Amino acid sequence: MTNVLAVGQYSDIDVKALADEFGAVPLADLSQIAGLPEDGRAAVTALAYKGHHALDGQVMDLLPGLKLIANFGVGYDAINVSDASARGISVTNTPNVLNDDVADLAVALLVMESRKLTASENWMRAGNWPAEGAYPLARKMSGRKVGVLGMGRIGREIADRLAAFKCEIHYQSRSRKDAPADWTYHADPVELARSVDDLVIAVVGGPDTVGFVSAEVIDALGADGIIVNIARGSVIDEAALLDALENGRLRGAGLDVFLNEPDIDARFLSMPNVTILPHVGSATAETRAAMGDLQRQNVRAHLAGRPLVTPVN
Ligand code: NAP
Repeated sequence: MTNVLAVGQYSDIDVKALADEFGAVPLADLSQIAGLPEDGRAAVTALAYKGHHALDGQVMDLLPGLKLIANFGVGYDAINVSDASARGISVTNTPNVLNDDVADLAVALLVMESRKLTASENWMRAGNWPAEGAYPLARKMSGRKVGVLGMGRIGREIADRLAAFKCEIHYQSRSRKDAPADWTYHADPVELARSVDDLVIAVVGGPDTVGFVSAEVIDALGADGIIVNIARGSVIDEAALLDALENGRLRGAGLDVFLNEPDIDARFLSMPNVTILPHVGSATAETRAAMGDLQRQNVRAHLAGRPLVTPVN
């Protein structure tokens, strides 16, 4: 029996790499762990995880010899890190290798929603151009005041890109960053929202940031604003977001992440003032290969007794 489990929806390339190097057994989801024989579960020391379902102490206790959870992804909000630490289990993630893709997508969402690109393309594909003439005017995106909520690794890449779009950069983090002198720091998310035209959310997910973008933040942005979220659905008060979008208190939203993915609130599917994507922030062949490689570097380090490459706890 192997001592590495690979749980989640991996690409064929990752399944093969994990099996070839570590003899990892692939499991589609966490619920299958309970069905493994007891001696097999006892032998597992590393779990390579790719998923968004809760991985908590109850699951960890099914694997009494577990010492490493190597997450495929930088966001590890599905993993209960306190439960892991309490059991002496290390957690790793895959930071930095996905920054460019996620930042590209955030800017794309802001451009797409400002310029109504999906709506105008759909209108054209539906054959409306010859009969209806010019498409209604959209809004300019370059040069607006944009707030980045969460100036971490991805937030910084987003801000750098927006600066190239001649946007005035404002940001919120728990502390002021080493940033260009003309970027404005705000300690408070409401104050950030009040000071900008559009808001891009790049804050970490997890229990500490649930509803961080509250109704108050949304209303402080105002009726002409666009919110882009590439972080996690949980960081926005989604009921307040839907209410603001439906009642003209927000111009639009560009969303890659939602509550209850993939069974998202059906209202998003028919709203004219949202651009929605199915959580594809890091979904390029190059970046997913780099994420898989970094995940395996952590498993390799664990099995060799070396320091972990990108530890979380
Ligand atoms: P990061 O470098 O750790 O940055 C996280 C940001 O969140 C930092 O600005 C940090 O604030 C802030 N933060 C952390 N804990 C907080 C708390 N308790 N209260 C308020 N702010 C807090 O992470 P990253 O690599 O940029 O990734 C950010 C997030 O993007 C990930 O956690 C993940 O959920 C999401 N993501 C989404 C996709 C996608 O496919 N859409 C892909 C990758 C990542 P400070 O600056 O004050 O420390």
